[in-house]
Amino acid sequence: MTQPVSSLRFAVVGHPVAHSRSPFIHECFAQQTQRSLTYERLLSPLDQFEATVRTFFNEGGTGLNVTVPFKEQAFALADQLSTRARLAGAVNTLWMNNGQLMGCNTDGVGLLHDLTRLGYPPEGQRILLIGAGGAARGVMLPLLDAGCAHLHIVNRTVAKAQALYHVLEMHRPDTLHRVQCTGLDSLAGPYDCVINATSASLSQEALPLPAGIYAPGHALAYDMLYGAKDTPFMTQARQQGAHTVADGLGMLVGQAAESYRLWHGVMPDMTEPLLVLRRSLETA
Ligand code: NDP
Repeated sequence: MTQPVSSLRFAVVGHPVAHSRSPFIHECFAQQTQRSLTYERLLSPLDQFEATVRTFFNEGGTGLNVTVPFKEQAFALADQLSTRARLAGAVNTLWMNNGQLMGCNTDGVGLLHDLTRLGYPPEGQRILLIGAGGAARGVMLPLLDAGCAHLHIVNRTVAKAQALYHVLEMHRPDTLHRVQCTGLDSLAGPYDCVINATSASLSQEALPLPAGIYAPGHALAYDMLYGAKDTPFMTQARQQGAHTVADGLGMLVGQAAESYRLWHGVMPDMTEPLLVLRRSLETA
């Protein structure tokens, strides 16, 4: 039997953080890939994020995941940012390299892993992305870099959708011919894939989406939120003829898998943690 190679210390930092499933997911990946590590939950006082991060790394920590409400503060704290983090304006993965605090954002790649798992890799697809908050901003470049044919970003507050257009204009003007940013009233379906990156489902609200947005016979409806049962967006998508309907649990596991790859240099398999988490959601 192969022996574990080393004992490394990881954590997820947030406020609150007790609900986080990251320790379970990373421990699952560690078993799979035979790494010896610890992964804890780190509750940071709201005004002590920087001190919490510095102490963690000064005491020998290897890597940190960052969750609400600290992703923007982690962005400001990192000495070096990946392109994904710069475009997202937020960081969810931190580690040290030669004394420098490195920051990346793996949410977008996590979504890509899940879309691929579901049989919907973005290449060549017409995608509707609803929402213009942190989650939408984090996934727009990965979707474009994965080769989607058209990315239509719509938001209730139009100015925020337009702000995302300006972010791309500044950092990646080469993508603009495939991007459109409008209000929710300017949908131009059908789309192959419709992604709900709003928090409307959190308050059990449906979105004002017209009939005809799902391409007949094959379209995917994806809600980034996850839970024990269908969200209002998912229910509406089934009624409006989406072929496949999914929630964001796989994105959660996918972003963890990408953090794991950055830290350990090996891509873990998402299947087992996803199955176990799904079962625990259904039986909770
Ligand atoms: P933000 O608060 O940054 O953005 C919220 C977005 O939702 C805004 O675009 C807002 O529009 C829109 N919105 C809220 N309520 C409504 C409504 N009733 N009708 C229409 N639009 C609405 O949140 P995040 O971007 O951080 O998160 C969005 C969702 O993604 C959350 O549900 C979160 O749980 C989920 N998520 C899931 C992840 C995963 O791994 N599965 C990872 C990250 C996020 P406006 O600008 O007009 O206010």
